[in-house]
Amino acid sequence: MDSREYDVVVIGGGIIGLSTAMHLKEDKYPNWRVAVVEKDEELATHQTGHNSGVIHSGIYYRPDSQKARFCVAGVKSLLRFCDENEIEYERCGKVIIAIDESELGRLESLHERGTANGVEGLEMIGPERLKEIEPHVAGIRALWAPGTGIIDYRKVALTYANRFQQAGGDVFTGAAVRRIVRSQGSLVLETETGDLRAKHVINCAGLYADRVAQMMGEGRDVRIIPFRGEYYTLRPERHHLVSGLIYPVPDPRFPFLGVHYTRNIHGQVEAGPNAVLALKREGYRKQDINPAEAMGTFTFPGFWKMSMKHWKTGLGEIYRSYNKRVFVRDLQRLIPEVQAEDLAPGGSGVRAQAVSRDGAILDDFHILRGREAVHVLNAPSPGATSSLAIGEHIVELAAEAFGDA
Ligand SMILES: Cc1cc2nc3c(=O)[nH]c(=O)nc-3n(C[C@H](O)[C@H](O)[C@H](O)COP(=O)(O)OP(=O)(O)OC[C@H]3O[C@@H](n4cnc5c(N)ncnc54)[C@H](O)[C@@H]3O)c2cc1C
Repeated sequence: MDSREYDVVVIGGGIIGLSTAMHLKEDKYPNWRVAVVEKDEELATHQTGHNSGVIHSGIYYRPDSQKARFCVAGVKSLLRFCDENEIEYERCGKVIIAIDESELGRLESLHERGTANGVEGLEMIGPERLKEIEPHVAGIRALWAPGTGIIDYRKVALTYANRFQQAGGDVFTGAAVRRIVRSQGSLVLETETGDLRAKHVINCAGLYADRVAQMMGEGRDVRIIPFRGEYYTLRPERHHLVSGLIYPVPDPRFPFLGVHYTRNIHGQVEAGPNAVLALKREGYRKQDINPAEAMGTFTFPGFWKMSMKHWKTGLGEIYRSYNKRVFVRDLQRLIPEVQAEDLAPGGSGVRAQAVSRDGAILDDFHILRGREAVHVLNAPSPGATSSLAIGEHIVELAAEAFGDA
């Protein structure tokens, strides 16, 4: 084989692509030539490097969904992996808080879901116990998830990359895949740093996964709609207001969890993220616009169908994004003592959320198996928590599709 010829090329060096590559090389196909191609100069700088850093326990997701299965299994594998590879994490626990009576039914449903999903240690608690765990919160009842934790997912992803390379895999950075053509029985991936040949492709391109699938004529029924999540950071003098992770009861119509407080593994306390339509796929700032990408969103029929259903929430998110007062008011529902001057603008992340042609926001992970490719078309939260389980699943799909040759 020529030095740029591979059995499998994984497109995208985020946590999912790197987990998949590691599983391929370490477990399934040690003798295959496998490469990861990443468009940026560094690995894991997009969703993997811009998230809340929470190790979710698996409460929110519909029983039998891939999110439920991969999250619950993924946590176990992730913690084992971190112990073996000396990656720091902390199981600080999380409370989901009902502020008033109207939220009690939904909180109870979350308890039932989490229990059905096999999440260990879940407990419904009253206000006294809640005050022991989080002394500064409001709330009449809460769901306590002691196993939920915090971690640096970029560190995890870079460790997957190291293990992959140690097993003999190649990583190309600064190599955006621009076009994929079929030639002489294989796929030619045209990248910024030259062509690569592959028998098979695994598409883990995150915010661009739909584009990459389209390069192979697949996945036309969904579009990635980018939703920016903006954070504030709590001033260090006010860190004592948050012991662990403090969440509201979410709106069940959306896959987003509502603005919450997160103590991260580096010791900062963040508040957010909201969920605002982004006009650029990697648009981390409000003013970021990419006209071609925005047009891509606006010309997709599913976007308008989704907007018709959820326009009120969407406008509310935009309004809150530009009005700190409104953001603070929502945060004060959870911790009344928090004041606007306690919060400074923080970072942001952009979620790759797939929407179908009929306007449905895809609730579950969506991984499509083609003949010569596997496409990961929807892997939002809890994708990082689930990364090892998703990687294993992709490798199983790949083995079914690609066989041994
Ligand atoms: C605001 C926010 C908060 C979140 N919080 C959590 C959380 O607390 N816990 C949790 O479990 N999950 C969380 N998530 C979800 C989690 O971050 C994602 O599920 C996970 O990072 C997805 O990883 P990925 O590898 O699919 O995507 P990415 O990390 O985005 O990686 C995709 C990679 O593909 C590359 N790429 C794209 N196009 C090309 C191309 N043409 N050629 C080559 N390379 C290409 C990109 O540069 C990128 O590096 C959050 C996400 C966001 C945005």
